[in-house]
Amino acid sequence: MAINTDKVLVTHSEIEEMLDRLAGEINRDYEGQPLVVVGILTGAFIFTADLVRRLEMPIIVDFMQVSSYVGEYSTGVLKIKKDLSYDIRDMNVLIVEDIIDTGRTLALLKEQLLTREPKSLKICTAFDKPSRRVNDLVPDYNGITIPDEFIVGYGLDLDGKYRDFDDVRIVRKE
Ligand code: 5GP
Ligand code: MG
Repeated sequence: MAINTDKVLVTHSEIEEMLDRLAGEINRDYEGQPLVVVGILTGAFIFTADLVRRLEMPIIVDFMQVSSYVGEYSTGVLKIKKDLSYDIRDMNVLIVEDIIDTGRTLALLKEQLLTREPKSLKICTAFDKPSRRVNDLVPDYNGITIPDEFIVGYGLDLDGKYRDFDDVRIVRKE
């Protein structure tokens, strides 16, 4: 079976427009207030880097690496592979994610970070697949809504590959 990544879903210039729009919304909403930006590894590393360079308030950049799995007796369990380096108590915190699919990971992460008592906690995602959602999670800032397809590029991978594409492509297995 061969992997075909020829089909471009989001062009590089559409990504740049999306970044300018999101940064504009975030700059307006926080206006001069310090912000802790929490990029979710590994997928959001490029999006986080591009977004923070467009932000105008004083920021701290931190990263977390998490995954979720559905436990036998629970709706989901969060596994933290890498935790934050900073204390977020009383801080404005913005989670920066590559893509929201079922919403399980971010719902659990949000719950976990709220126990640390930040001043505020919001979510910014580059891409959203709302048709796949299993809960009521809605991002505060949404880049581009996409159909139910598996995408790669702009940080998103398939088995560690294709993160370096500067556009977003649909994966077809043939
Ligand atoms: P969920 O919202 O289902 O808990 O999981 C979201 C995570 O699944 C994302 O952070 C990403 O790692 C992965 N994911 C979901 N959809 C896609 C996709 O279309 N392409 C890639 N590369 N990863 C995806
Ligand atoms: Mg991810």
